[in-house]
Amino acid sequence: MACNCREQITKMIREQLGDPLANIRGVICFGKDGVQFKPTVAITYRKKKKDGSFCKAQSEMELSYEYCPFCGRKIEEDKEFKKEDKQ
Ligand SMILES: [Zn+2]
Repeated sequence: MACNCREQITKMIREQLGDPLANIRGVICFGKDGVQFKPTVAITYRKKKKDGSFCKAQSEMELSYEYCPFCGRKIEEDKEFKKEDKQ
């Protein structure tokens, strides 16, 4: 990531909640550059049944974002790998 907001905010959350394992949601992606952590926001929605009506139960999905929600800087894949990537 281009910034260290996630580390700082995670530290703050852990201090505030008193739980050393408290975390910001995210997904681990396996790409050509290796393993990467992507922060996500949770989406809640109801699945549609075949007849067009919605299920009563809420389903969840994770959506990752390109820009840091705390400082607005673009979240880069991995700086070290990006420099070598000639694409
Ligand atoms: Zn940031």
